[in-house]
Amino acid sequence: MRTDLQNFIDTIPAVGDASRQTETFWLNEKKVPQGEKRIDLVCPEQIDDARRRLERFAPYLCEAFPELRETGGIIESKLREIPGMKDYLNEVYGAGIEGRLLLKMDSHLPVSGSVKARGGIYEVLKHGEDLALEAGLLKETDNYRVLAEPKFREFFGKYTVQVGSTGNLGMSIGIMSAKLGFHVIVHMSADAKQWKKDLLRSRGVEVIEYADDYCAAVEQGRKNSDKDEQSYFVDDENSKNLFLGYSVAGERLKAQLEEQKIPVDEDHPLFVYIPCGIGGAPGGVTYGLKQIYGDHVHCFFTEPVHACCMLFGMATGLQDQVSVRDFGIDGRTDADGLAVGRPSAFVGRVVEPVLSGIATIEDQKLYDLMRGLLDREDIFIEPSSCASFAALIRPNDLKKYAEREGLLDKMPNATHIAWATGGNMVPEDTRREYLKKGLA
Ligand SMILES: *Cc1c(COP(=O)(O)O)cnc(C)c1O
Repeated sequence: MRTDLQNFIDTIPAVGDASRQTETFWLNEKKVPQGEKRIDLVCPEQIDDARRRLERFAPYLCEAFPELRETGGIIESKLREIPGMKDYLNEVYGAGIEGRLLLKMDSHLPVSGSVKARGGIYEVLKHGEDLALEAGLLKETDNYRVLAEPKFREFFGKYTVQVGSTGNLGMSIGIMSAKLGFHVIVHMSADAKQWKKDLLRSRGVEVIEYADDYCAAVEQGRKNSDKDEQSYFVDDENSKNLFLGYSVAGERLKAQLEEQKIPVDEDHPLFVYIPCGIGGAPGGVTYGLKQIYGDHVHCFFTEPVHACCMLFGMATGLQDQVSVRDFGIDGRTDADGLAVGRPSAFVGRVVEPVLSGIATIEDQKLYDLMRGLLDREDIFIEPSSCASFAALIRPNDLKKYAEREGLLDKMPNATHIAWATGGNMVPEDTRREYLKKGLA
């Protein structure tokens, strides 16, 4: 362990707990009222730009993925109330949830079956658009359906896209890049599941496997890509484009809440819980939601006990200058989508004024929650996804937060959204294995 970290362990209780690999809940003391402090690494206007880009691509996406016809080429997931799961959490974990509980089902996002279908696909589309515009093959005012024509596939075929991934990001980048016609290489860490590698290969994606962790796969991918002028590297550790792709979720969610007549205002707080790996997905979604709901939305990240890199980065203020290994933690978790040992280089700074807190959870509980959700709601989501319930099963900490924010009397009117981040594409035999995990 790094010796300069002892002081943090001794003085910040959540860091102490986390370093001993016990579940914990960190409340962000640096959160300030909305608008008081803005970190200008990304700006709100860029969310609009991202939304418009996705709209330009909608006719193409409709053409490329028949499953998107229903939504006119917009990749979006359902928002579903899960009263049975609320009862389950209250009965089994004493969660004491008063308001409504909903599930944001990014686990079932079309095309790649995880939250990565937001950021990952967005970044590939942006890169493709940049290349085609620059080459004079495309104008922003064109109907992007033309991108499905052989001439464009041939054009993109001269270029390579590369990414390092624990699995789901590789699926998004791989599927989308291959569809456009890019040569695509996915560098997979040891945590990545075999079925994800198989599926990608079946779609014409080159998969390179590493015996090492996520950071090593990213490092190799970056090196490989830097050697080739025609290659573009999707950099999960630094990418603003991924972040912006995720942030569009904010206004999409707003439309869904309005449609379901669920108010969000001073008397009706919204609580959102999002599983966190490197931080791009939960950070982007949080950023998008904060632009819309300001102080009325309360966003929490959730992490596995063995890979709580964002908690360490934010609670110590060291951000990406610290990793779970520096605390003597191995980074190994069954929550493969969250198996990241070092947080993003910029997300922690961007969300520092707006994030409410971070809860951590043991792997075993992820399986229990997975079975609970399947049993009560007939919804299957993958273990990583189940981390979205980590804060809800710590009622005392949530209460402390509500008290601090002056929300205690408003909690009966609160809406809680657990952000399910993956699961739809998990094959049947893997599901069966998961469902047996940790049972006596
Ligand atoms: C990637 C992923 C996350 C978290 O996203 P990050 O950008 O890595 O923080 C959460 N859940 C699942 C299932 C994922 O694949």
